[in-house]
Amino acid sequence: MKIPFVSFHPMENELNDEIRAAFDRVFTRSWYIEGIEDKTFEKVFAEYCGVKYCIGVGNGLDALMLALKALDIGEGDEVIVPSNTYIATALAVTYVGAVPVLVEPDIETFNINPSLIEEKITEKTKAIMPVHLYGQACNMDSIMEIAKKYGLKVVEDCAQAHGAKYKGQKVGTFGDVAGFSFYPGKNLGALGDAGAVVTNNKELAEKVRIFGNYGSDFKYHHIYKGNNSRLDELQAAFLLAKLPHLERMNAERRRIAKKYTEGIKNPKVITPYFLEDCDPVWHIYGIRCDERDALEKYLNEKCIGTNKHYPIPIHLQKCYKDLNIPIGALPIAEEISEKELSIPMYYGLNDSEINYIIETINKF
Ligand SMILES: *Cc1c(COP(=O)(O)O)cnc(C)c1O
Repeated sequence: MKIPFVSFHPMENELNDEIRAAFDRVFTRSWYIEGIEDKTFEKVFAEYCGVKYCIGVGNGLDALMLALKALDIGEGDEVIVPSNTYIATALAVTYVGAVPVLVEPDIETFNINPSLIEEKITEKTKAIMPVHLYGQACNMDSIMEIAKKYGLKVVEDCAQAHGAKYKGQKVGTFGDVAGFSFYPGKNLGALGDAGAVVTNNKELAEKVRIFGNYGSDFKYHHIYKGNNSRLDELQAAFLLAKLPHLERMNAERRRIAKKYTEGIKNPKVITPYFLEDCDPVWHIYGIRCDERDALEKYLNEKCIGTNKHYPIPIHLQKCYKDLNIPIGALPIAEEISEKELSIPMYYGLNDSEINYIIETINKF
């Protein structure tokens, strides 16, 4: 048995006709940017999230960056981000000219630890960017309370958490604004790069749209030096084809996660902890193991694909040398980088594959 870390084939085979019809619709219309597919997707995705506004953009990084820009965050400002996340979260802050201030996660949930946020707040702090990592919502009650106390904005990074809930409420609806990625491997993925910003704030929504469209509020009138980051018609059409299946496919991920959590019984392995009222969507199923690299090698030899999220924490990346954070300064992020191993998690993983993965891990 050979099980890749991720495969889109089961989903794509199932949605083959819908995806091809989406392509045909756009190609027949021969209209590729700023059209009916984009408009429709924005409406449907806003409804799905439970927010008033959605703006389709080019990718998840742009979504976060445009959200920060719309909040007027830039030069001289600081933004709190988790020390364990994909680098895009920090890069979005850097791109607007602000400084990412890294806060350690909770080792159990992998998400930002709210009790460590306050000590990092300075006069320069303008926002908190919680990341609902691996598909599990952050502790939004605590984060919103801190934001309120210090008058900070909250930009949710929902790139890994389409449809995830915290106490029954969908992520992306707690803060001022949220960014989504539709990178192909995300729970809702396009057939290329795509992203979206969601918000209930009309003024922010308008600013995001203008910033992402050359700073233009009206054709050939430019009120900001904006950039070009729009959701194109083809990707919007593909996303429209896939969105109606997201809940079902997330449910399937939950079923797989439950089987893993119940079945993995190796004392050397820690399965991911999640809060009951969090309803994670399992973008990633990350186990922890002191002998992570040996476990990875062993699983790969048994033809089970794996991945690490993330092998080098942000503060130890070459590009962030200027943050001047030495090795050992963020021990939890470093521990996760050394011990986390992601095992296969995707729609279409079948029971015999799941059982084989569980049995193989238990024999390690
Ligand atoms: C994927 C991802 C992004 C960036 O999304 P892209 O569409 O790849 O630009 C941002 N934040 C997190 C947490 C992600 O996983």
